[in-house]
Amino acid sequence: MQNKQRIKSRLERSAVKYCYQIGIPWHQLPSLYWNKRDFAKITGRRRKRKGTLGACSYWHNAILVDLDQRNPPNTTETLVHELTHLRWQHLKHGPKFEDRIKEIMKGVTYPKREREDEKPYYRIKLFEMIKGE
Ligand SMILES: [Zn+2]
Repeated sequence: MQNKQRIKSRLERSAVKYCYQIGIPWHQLPSLYWNKRDFAKITGRRRKRKGTLGACSYWHNAILVDLDQRNPPNTTETLVHELTHLRWQHLKHGPKFEDRIKEIMKGVTYPKREREDEKPYYRIKLFEMIKGE
């Protein structure tokens, strides 16, 4: 339990650091969730298969790093993986995605996230909300 709290604090600090490094503005820092149940409460997303270590919801600006896993492997890498989804929403899993994660963990910096980096879905939803639909 003590250990879990330590991991959470460390990941919270890391998230702020990495967001700054990869250009996610401070007022758009994602909310972090530590288990699938809490993440599902916010996102309405049903729990995924057992092996899932993390998840990301653009619309809720929320990230899951599942600490309920027995021996969570590399939680920092899971966090960076999900932040990469959030920062480059069009980038799909693959070698380029993996390279990006490695670069981030090495300390490479990136410009601020732009509208073009976001999924149009996000904008459509926002537009619908503004229109009150
Ligand atoms: Zn992924």
